[in-house]
Amino acid sequence: MSDVITIALSKGRIFKETMPLLAAAGIIPTDDPEKSRKLILDTNRDDVKLVVIRATDVPTYVQYGAADIGVAGKDVLLEHGAEGLYEPVDLKIASCKLMTAGPVDYMPPTGRLRVATKFVNVTKEYFASIGQQVEVIKLYGSMELGPIVGLSDLIVDVVDTGNTLKANGLKPMDKIADISSRLIVNKASMKMKHDRLQQIIEQMRDAVEGK
Ligand code: AMP
Repeated sequence: MSDVITIALSKGRIFKETMPLLAAAGIIPTDDPEKSRKLILDTNRDDVKLVVIRATDVPTYVQYGAADIGVAGKDVLLEHGAEGLYEPVDLKIASCKLMTAGPVDYMPPTGRLRVATKFVNVTKEYFASIGQQVEVIKLYGSMELGPIVGLSDLIVDVVDTGNTLKANGLKPMDKIADISSRLIVNKASMKMKHDRLQQIIEQMRDAVEGK
């Protein structure tokens, strides 16, 4: 099993946009994750398998070596932390921004600011960095609802077109980070399977740079 290279990916946009980059590295899945219920997908290469998991689990799989490499959004990586991981290539896919957002008629509260988000760690670090005391409320989705129902004053979420915010009476406010998907590599795997991983990394990097 240690001969196999395991690549961790999430379904949807990251999977679709990573496929051409993997193809440039000579890796083509033989199953379609949108149609298959399989969690481990075979590829055209006997020594390469894909695991299709939740986006937020990708860094965990790679950190513990359950996958050798993976593709994860910078938002997920900032929240998870970089322990045990290399981040050798910005794949420049699934780009967006991590932002604070609030009601279009936002007025700061008189008491402590409440911020709803699924990015609890990043949010605490961001507000600490600007010297503002906040209460962070953990949500797992639909953050936009927070200010509407009075759960929070602001939210922290990823924003692309801003249409979702607008549709819910919110506006983007401060940018916390530019986001795109990154190739991540387990540090021990990079030593044990160096030549094959290095080749995949370089071929994906060349594909991103249009070489
Ligand atoms: P928007 O285009 O700003 O309306 O974004 C639509 C929804 O997709 C929002 O709820 C965002 O949270 C989410 N979203 C947009 N871009 C990304 C991305 N690159 N990665 C993850 N989620 C995203």
